[in-house]
Amino acid sequence: MDSTTWYDRQLDVPGFDCGLLKHLNSLSIGRAQSPVEKLVAELLVRMGVHGVSSVNSPSFISSMVRINPFVRETHSSNIELTSSSGSNAAIANVSANSYRLAIPSEATPYDSPVLSALLIDTIKKSEGRMIDLPSTRPPLMSHPDSTSNSRVMVVGAGGLGCPAISHLLNWLKGSLAVVDHDTVAVTDLHRQVFYTLSDVGRKKARVLPERLSKGSQELHMVAFDKPFSEELLDHFKPDMVVSAVDNTSTRREINRICVERSIDVVDAGVNDYGGYITSYTVGSACYVCTIGSAAMRDQKKKGILTMTSYHGGMLLARYAVELLVNKEALRGKIFVFDLSRFIFEAFDVERNKRCEVCGGNR
Ligand SMILES: [Zn+2]
Repeated sequence: MDSTTWYDRQLDVPGFDCGLLKHLNSLSIGRAQSPVEKLVAELLVRMGVHGVSSVNSPSFISSMVRINPFVRETHSSNIELTSSSGSNAAIANVSANSYRLAIPSEATPYDSPVLSALLIDTIKKSEGRMIDLPSTRPPLMSHPDSTSNSRVMVVGAGGLGCPAISHLLNWLKGSLAVVDHDTVAVTDLHRQVFYTLSDVGRKKARVLPERLSKGSQELHMVAFDKPFSEELLDHFKPDMVVSAVDNTSTRREINRICVERSIDVVDAGVNDYGGYITSYTVGSACYVCTIGSAAMRDQKKKGILTMTSYHGGMLLARYAVELLVNKEALRGKIFVFDLSRFIFEAFDVERNKRCEVCGGNR
């Protein structure tokens, strides 16, 4: 296998060409110690950095090789992850083909996709950059330790679904169902964090129970190797559906069926460097009110970077937990992000009283 197959979906992202990928392949990451540094390192390895310095522990290096078989151990490094104290600013700079990312001490793993975007931007433009980390976060986020017993159905175990599921496991109590009838492909591996090279060709719903078996004892999990359907929803009876799909026709189907049954939905969509996260609850705007009918046609093949889908997936999990704890906090809100232009904004969405799906229905 050559590495361009591995990075196929990434090379469809505008501005992410073979030249940039080759440069990333030649770089090596220095010591990654804290959870936030380790996740930044993982995202960089997933996006094409092939060197991991031997100053890291053997177990960390072998975990990076499991994630990306092109990774090798190096004796020097040119990406240094450091901490900056007393400030909320994350700062990336470059000098003589060496890069340095200073991470504020208050940063959490949830900031890791934005931090890796800052470094990727600096590598791409060969020019340093600084961002105020709190300004990149969605508003109204509580930090519950866990939720009360609930039944959550995640539709899609791909680029959005994998990080969403892995972070939901930290909070959820009750029952979690995952719905996906796809098989694992080589081009999924750079971003779909539950699968490795040996899983290629296997059904995702078969692989997942093996990877998720160490979840909380208070959580019952089941994976369905089926497409999303009304029958499946009526069988599992979730309190909430997490829409982690990659096409608008399934999103429309989830929206229509959940509006009819008054089931809350948390939804995200991503491509290239950006995406959105929102929720549709009883009385608030639905998917069709929010997105309209303009964006209903699917592109055949979309480019995607791991940091983008990972950010969308983590935010999906956080929105789902927020909604389980406090329904009012997220009513009619959409959060959009762009990891290329560093735009992070929340908007209010009005319900369309004449919406073809929810108008008059809830
Ligand atoms: Zn609507």
